[in-house]
Amino acid sequence: MKTGRNYKFWFCTGSQDLYGDECLQHVAEHSAIIVEALNKSGNLPFEVVLKPTLLTNEMIRRTFNEANADEDCAGVITWMHTFSPAKSWILGLQEFRKPLLHLHTQFNQEIPYDTIDMDFMNENQSAHGGREYGHIVSRMGIERKVIVGFWDDKAVQDKIASWMRTAVGVMESSHIRVMRIADNMRNVAVTEGDKVEAQIKFGWEVDAYPVNEIAEAVAQVSKGDIEALVEEYYDKYEILLEGRDPKEFREHVAVQAGIEIGFERFLEEKNYQAIVTHFGDLGALKQLPGLAIQRLMQKGYGFGAEGDWKTAAMVRLMKIMTANMPNAKGTSMLEDYTYNLVPGKEGILEAHMLEICPSIADGPISIKVQPLSMGDREDPARLVFTSKEGKGIATSLIDLGNRFRLIINEVNCKKVEKPMPKLPVATAFWTPEPNLQVGTEAWIYAGGAHHTAFSYDLTTEQMVDWANAMGIESVVIDKDTTIRNFRNELKWNSVYYR
Ligand code: MN
Repeated sequence: MKTGRNYKFWFCTGSQDLYGDECLQHVAEHSAIIVEALNKSGNLPFEVVLKPTLLTNEMIRRTFNEANADEDCAGVITWMHTFSPAKSWILGLQEFRKPLLHLHTQFNQEIPYDTIDMDFMNENQSAHGGREYGHIVSRMGIERKVIVGFWDDKAVQDKIASWMRTAVGVMESSHIRVMRIADNMRNVAVTEGDKVEAQIKFGWEVDAYPVNEIAEAVAQVSKGDIEALVEEYYDKYEILLEGRDPKEFREHVAVQAGIEIGFERFLEEKNYQAIVTHFGDLGALKQLPGLAIQRLMQKGYGFGAEGDWKTAAMVRLMKIMTANMPNAKGTSMLEDYTYNLVPGKEGILEAHMLEICPSIADGPISIKVQPLSMGDREDPARLVFTSKEGKGIATSLIDLGNRFRLIINEVNCKKVEKPMPKLPVATAFWTPEPNLQVGTEAWIYAGGAHHTAFSYDLTTEQMVDWANAMGIESVVIDKDTTIRNFRNELKWNSVYYR
């Protein structure tokens, strides 16, 4: 998936000139070794770039401003090798506008018991310098990530990698443009929201286009292009005719191929990375975009149904954060549909009318053509599958009138006990943490939506960090959630975020 940037992270080591040139030379050497090891580890999704050791107010201020100006720089990793008096950092930090990591590490893993002397202590005093630096960042109320541990530990590198993806989410949030080709579904509350505030908080541009402008782009797609894509579908997916005439079936599929091509061209031409549709406002489109939207989501576009632009932007954001992740299991819009309330087997069946991203599929993917019970168009073709097992996070971004709240629920995705042969849509099935009852009660107390942006590949920590970077409230529903504490947290938050 394209973000348009080859992001890098700057590595800036803090020190001062109190300890002499020899010490500073060691500091620079150690930083170079760490940066090289991080880049060679294969554990980081983005390159780390070594910068000269920062010694003075002027250097720090200049470096942070250069980081601001460098469009490829997605954040700065800071490390206090020695003691770096933190007043030197105030102006630079004040002017810095990108994600900040405080890597609290130390060049040597073990205390060199036999040889340690005061020179060594002065040269290797992260425990000391990191606290001075941390103090000023906290005093200034600047959002940052703190990671503590030995730089060559895989666990520490994995934490850096995870933060890098969050940082790219923070950077890329302000490049998300959502195309609305329909308004929010009439009378629905939770998919509404303040688009101006969303642009102020998240940087999202949310714009409306008449549906018939995109329908015209679909009408312009050549028969040859459509036929080539239909061939690709027929190669890639199983065709479940279920008694339909093969030629008629293929014609229905071809409509979705035209929508996929036409929509993608329109989105590219106008530079949008997310889209919303609405089954009740389809203009000249012959079918509700189903298979077409599923394929676009897999290509990295965000999507929200029934005009849900918040979910569309969140799906795009989460796709950016997981882009090029090895062994990724998928990210999609989902909707809470129906429960299994049998004791010991509780869970929520997740689906939508059509539009579930095949990135979350497990096993074969089929095409079906079936009537929709809603709307007034011809039977749309859609991809049908079941989803992977394992842990994931379901997120819902809601507008409370005076602020946004991001609700994050950790969920365990499972197989349903039996096939559902009459259900003509893709599905997932999960049990929310800590269990269906508490998880759902908490979700409802928090005001969470029926639409979610879901991913197997992101963590609660990443989404909370992202929300913190955006300056919005986040609440987590996980194995430690109790209703009493959760309701109190909502009350406390309402005071903090007023
Ligand atoms: Mn819906």
